Parts: sequence; C-alpha cells; structure tokens
Amino acid sequence: MNENVILDVGSIGWGVQSTAILLMQGLGLLPKTDVNFFSELRETQATIDYKGKMEPILKDMGIECVTLKPKDIYEHIINWPTADRVSMLPVWFKNEEGKAQPLNRGCTADFKINIVASGIRDYLGVKRLSRHSIRIWQGITTDEIGRAKKSALYPTKQNSFRVNHYPYIGQYANITDPRYKWVDYSRFKIIEEVFIKYGFPIPPKSSCFFCPFHDIEYWYEIFIKEPENFELACLLDDAIRNYNTVSEVLTSGPFYLYKGLIPLRNIDFDKERKQQTQQVLMAGCESGFCFM
Ligand code: SF4
Repeated sequence: MNENVILDVGSIGWGVQSTAILLMQGLGLLPKTDVNFFSELRETQATIDYKGKMEPILKDMGIECVTLKPKDIYEHIINWPTADRVSMLPVWFKNEEGKAQPLNRGCTADFKINIVASGIRDYLGVKRLSRHSIRIWQGITTDEIGRAKKSALYPTKQNSFRVNHYPYIGQYANITDPRYKWVDYSRFKIIEEVFIKYGFPIPPKSSCFFCPFHDIEYWYEIFIKEPENFELACLLDDAIRNYNTVSEVLTSGPFYLYKGLIPLRNIDFDKERKQQTQQVLMAGCESGFCFM
C-alpha cells in the first residue's frame, strides 16, 4: 500500500465501469473504498432510474455512494449570456479545415472533478487537500486505456492530492496489495463477468442528456425514449449557436450539440444514421470524470 494515501475514493458515474466497481466491492472481488461519490448532473432518465434501482441492492451488500449535487449544469449553460463565467461545453464547430471540432471541455472539471474534490474536503473536514494523497478509483477499462494517466499525481497544485487508481488496468493499478490480483478488464468483460454472471441489470450509458459527445445512435435513443429531454436538448442547442465564454472568444462558431453540425431539431435521423458509421465518441461521464 502507498502509506501516504489517507483515503480511497470511488468516482462513480452509474455507467457500466463504475457501477461494477461498487458491485465488485460488494461481492468481495475488490477491496472497499472508504467513500464513493457521484456528482449528479442532468443524466438521462434511464440513468436516474437505474441508480434508483441499484442503490438499495448495493446497500444490502454494504456499499453506499454519496450523491453530490452541484448547481444545475443545464441552467448554467443555457443562461450563458448572463453568466459571469461560463463553463465550457465541448460543443462542435467547423474548423479551418472544414472539419467538426469540439471546444475545449470545462464542464468535467467544473461539474465533476471539483465537486468530488469538495466532497472529499467535507468528508475529511479539511479546507485544502494539497498536503494529502487521495487515491481516486476510476472505472477505466483496457479498451479505453488512452484515458488512463499512468502518472500517480496530477501536475497542477489544485489536483496534486490525486493518486489515480485504475482497478481494471493491471499495469496502472496503484495499490500493491498482495491479496488482490489486479486484472485487465475490458468493458465487455465486465458486462460478462459482473453483470451477467451475477444477474445484475446492465446500466445504460451514463452522461448528461445533452452531452455533445453523443453519437447519432445515442441522440436517436433520446429522441425516441425521452422526448422531453430531447426537446430540452433542442432548446439548449438553439441557445448555444453563438456560444462563447464572456472572457475568451475562441472562435465565432456557429456551434452545435451534434457533431454533424446540424441543429438537433432538424436532424433527419434516417439519413444521419445511414451516413454515420457506428462510431462511439465516448461513454460520457461513466467513470465519474468523463475522459479524465
Ligand atoms: S457528460 Fe458531457 S456535458 Fe456532461 S459533464 Fe461530461 S462532458 Fe460535460
């Protein structure tokens, strides 16, 4: 064990990978974290329902996850013209080469990473974490290994407390506890080895319902299954066409939630679904920290 680490924290997003961390702890397949946090944003109804179903199951297994509630990310973004500081959503624009490019993402840091950090401060009863080492468990799997950062500590002062731990990537596991064999698990293997094998319901993909990283299939699913959220996403999409931070003008846009650079409400799903290969851009905030 790293003796400097004073706390083990699970970063939960209620998608496949992070829910499996909780389940594997409950099943005795992974050591237990001291505390688990979920920063609740504006997830799809499917994720909200899933969380509601799993919390009592996990509680019976002795596992709990604390839900943190930051300010409403949807309201924050849609009201960007009047905000003092706007969190950057990775909305799409056409770059100089004529290709779709997302703006740099600030929402993950503002609404996930910093919120979990504040949850840890409250849990420990300290004002600053910079002198501590906190091991953050993230459910990143071998099929998305590029998201894992091998270095133990984040380079910035604000994040210097973080020791990244990836229980599904053996070579990046940051615990040398001989009782546990750190394995290499892909998302597919987790579904097989945890959810199917033990009969737990498989989570839907977890992310904000309006996340610009959704592919066309995800947008179609929201359109069909959650029409109220799709309409809210359309309203947001309309509102960000000229989106920019107040202090930084990065590009003049126009901006879109959909990578196809088409207003959401104008999408011809039959056409777009045929045209687009089934590329999956990301699994949203499943690890609890989006891409981090
Ligand atoms: S799911 Fe998308 S919109 Fe929500 S915080 Fe993560 S990157 Fe930002």
